[in-house]
Amino acid sequence: MANFAEETMAWVKEKYPAEAEFHQAVEEVVESLSLVLERNPEYRKAKIVERIIIPERAIMFRVPWVDDNGDVQVNHGFRVEMNSAIGPYKGGLRFHPTVTLGMLKFLAFEQVFKNSLTTLPMGGGKGGSDFDPKGKSDIEVMRFCQSFMSELFRHIGPNTDVPAGDIGVGGREIGYLFGQYKKLRNEFTGVLTGKGLNYGGSLIRPEATGYGAVYFAAEMLTTRNETLEGKTCLVSGSGNVAQFTTEKINELGGKVVTLSDSSGYIYDEAGVDDEKLKFVMDLKNVRRGRIKEYADKYNVPFAPNDPNSDFNPLWNHKADCAFPSATQNEINAKDAQNLLNNGVYVVSEGANMPTVPEGVKLFLDAKILYGPGKAANAGGVATSGLEMSQNSLRYSWTREEVDAKLHNIMKAIHKACVEAADEYGTPGNYVNGANIAGFIKVADTMLDQGVV
Ligand code: NDP
Repeated sequence: MANFAEETMAWVKEKYPAEAEFHQAVEEVVESLSLVLERNPEYRKAKIVERIIIPERAIMFRVPWVDDNGDVQVNHGFRVEMNSAIGPYKGGLRFHPTVTLGMLKFLAFEQVFKNSLTTLPMGGGKGGSDFDPKGKSDIEVMRFCQSFMSELFRHIGPNTDVPAGDIGVGGREIGYLFGQYKKLRNEFTGVLTGKGLNYGGSLIRPEATGYGAVYFAAEMLTTRNETLEGKTCLVSGSGNVAQFTTEKINELGGKVVTLSDSSGYIYDEAGVDDEKLKFVMDLKNVRRGRIKEYADKYNVPFAPNDPNSDFNPLWNHKADCAFPSATQNEINAKDAQNLLNNGVYVVSEGANMPTVPEGVKLFLDAKILYGPGKAANAGGVATSGLEMSQNSLRYSWTREEVDAKLHNIMKAIHKACVEAADEYGTPGNYVNGANIAGFIKVADTMLDQGVV
C-alpha cells in the first residue's frame, strides 16, 4: 500500500506541478490512509481518494476596484468548492498577497477532513484573493469586498456554499461582503458566517478557533492527567486566532510569553495578561498597528524578522506548550527541534499546516502531544456550523450555550482522533487519528451517493 501513496503523489505532482502546499497537504493524508485502504478495498475501487483530491469545482475570477487615488486596481479572486458529500461547501476566505489557487486547494482539502471531524454536516471549500487589506483605507477595503462579492454571489448560498473569514478577513470584511450579497440577491440569509451579532452572527464565533485550540490542548493534557495551569506557552501571530488562544490560556491558568506579526515577535517573560491582551486587540483590530508597539509600551524585547535566518527565534524559548497561530509552514525542522530542546511537549495548531513535514515527524518521533491543525483548529468552523443552525432556526443561543457546545465538539474531535489512531495501530498519533476519522465519514458518504 506504500505504493498507493507513492503513485498518488506522483500523479498529483505531475498534474499540479506548481502547487507545493497542496502536495504537502495531500501527502500527509495519503500516508495516513494506507491501512484504511488495505482494510477497505471498496474505497480504492470507487477511486475515493482520487475523487477527494480533485475539487468538485474551482472558480477563478477578476476583481477590479478603484483605490483612493482614483487609480484602477485588479486582483485575482478564487473559490475552491472541494467536496460536498456531507453538506454545503464550508470554509473561509483569505485575503493575502501570497494567495494562489494552489494555496487555496491545500486549505480546501484540509477543510474537507476538518469539517467531517466536527460532527456537523459541512462539506469543504476555501476561497480568497491576493488582495492585501494591510495599509488600505476602510473605503478601499469596502470597494474591494463589493467587487469580490459581485462575482462570488452567483456561486454561493446558504444551502450551497457558506464562506467565512480567514487571514485578512475579519468582522469588517464579512460585513462588507454580506452587505453586497444581500443587495445583489435581495434576500437576508445566513450565506456567510462570522457575521456581526446584530445581523445573525453567533456569540463566541470570533473566539472559537483560539478557544478550540486551547480546549484541544487541554484534552491532550488530560491523557497525562495534567492541565494548562502554570504552563508557559509560546503563541505566534497576533490576529484572531492568536488573540483568543491567549485569552483562553489566561483563563485556564497558563502564561503566554510570545506574540508576533509578519514584522517580528515580542517576548514578555511576565506574560501577556488580560490587560495587555486588551491593548493587543485594540492595536490589531481597531488601530491596525504593528506588534512592535507592544514592546515599546511594555518595555519588553522585540525581535524583527530576519529573512536570512534559518530558524524563527520565537520557537527557541523555554516553554511547555506551543500554539502556532499565524500561517502555514511557520515551524521548520530546526524550529521543531528547538521546541523539543526547550522542553515543549504540547503543540496545538491554531493555524492550518503550520509545521513542515520534517517537523511533524520530529514531534511524532518524540511522542509529544501534537494536535494537527485539522483537529485542533476545527472549533472555528464548528462554531460557524452552529451559526448556520441558528440562522436557519432564526434563533440565538447564549454565550454559555455556544461555548459549551464548542467545548463538547472539541472533546468529541479529540476522542474521535484517539479512537481512530488506536484502531489503526498508532496510539497517540493525532495526525493519523484526524486524517483517518475525517476521511472515513466522507468516503462512506461518497460510496452511498454513487459515482457523482
Ligand atoms: P489574521 O489575519 O487575524 O491574523 C494572522 C496573523 O498571522 C497576523 O498576526 C499576521 O501578521 C500573521 N501572519 C499572516 N501571514 C503571515 C506570514 N506569511 N508570515 C508571518 N506572519 C504572518 O488571521 P487568523 O488569526 O484568522 O488566521 C491565522 C491562522 O489560523 C491561519 O493559518 C488560518 O488559516 C488559521 N485558521 C483561522 C480560522 C479562523 O476562524 N479565523 C479557523 C481555522 C484556522 P500580519 O498582520 O503582519 O500579516
